[in-house]
Amino acid sequence: AIGAILMASERLHFELAQLASKDSLTNAYTRRSLFELGENEVARCKRQGSTLAALMLDLDHFKRINDTHGHQVGDQVLTDFVQRVQGVLRRPCIVGRYGGEEFLVLLPDTNREEALLAAERIRTNATCQAGVPVCTVSIGLACLGGVQNDSLTALIGRADAGLYRAKEMGRNRVEEALA
Ligand code: GH3
Ligand code: MG
Ligand code: MG
Repeated sequence: AIGAILMASERLHFELAQLASKDSLTNAYTRRSLFELGENEVARCKRQGSTLAALMLDLDHFKRINDTHGHQVGDQVLTDFVQRVQGVLRRPCIVGRYGGEEFLVLLPDTNREEALLAAERIRTNATCQAGVPVCTVSIGLACLGGVQNDSLTALIGRADAGLYRAKEMGRNRVEEALA
C-alpha cells in the first residue's frame, strides 16, 4: 500500500511540474521554463559547436483585436497562434511565452538560412485562421554559433533588436538586428 501511495505521489509531482512549465492559456512554455531550457541549449551549442537560432515573435496591432472583438477572442487568437507556430515547425523546438502577445522560439541545430525559412513559414502560415480575426506577426531573428558566441541574454537581445526593426519597417516581416 505504501508503495502505491509513493508511486501516486511521484506521478502527481511529475504532473504538477509539467503543468507549471506551461503557460495555462497558450500551452507554450512559461517564461521561467523558457530561460531554463534556453540556458541548456546555449550550453549545448557551445559544448558541441552547434548552432542555435532564436525568433522573437510579436503579434501586430494585437490590442486592436481585443478592442474590436473582446479579450476572449484575443485569448483565442493567442492560443490558435501558438498551435499554428508549433504546427509549422518541423524540427524539435522550444516555443515559450515571453510576455503578453510576445513569444520566443528557440531552434536548436538551426543555422541562419534555416531559421529564416522557419520564420517566413511562421509569418505566412501561423496567422491565418478561419473563424478568428486575422492578425499578422513581426519577427526578429538572431543566431548563435560560429562568430556569434554570446549568452542567452545577448541572443534574446539581438532577436529583440531585430523585432524592433521589423516593427519600424512596417510590421508583418522578419528582420535581423543590424550588426
Ligand atoms: P504592435 O504591433 O506595436 O506590437 O501593437 P500591439 O497592439 O500588438 O502592442 P501593444 O503592446 O500596444 O498591445 C499588446 C496587447 O496585448 C495589450 C494587451 O492587453 C494584450 N494582451 C497581453 N496579454 C494578453 C492575453 O493574455 N490575452 C489577451 N486577450 N490580450 C493580451
Ligand atoms: Mg508586444
Ligand atoms: Mg504586438
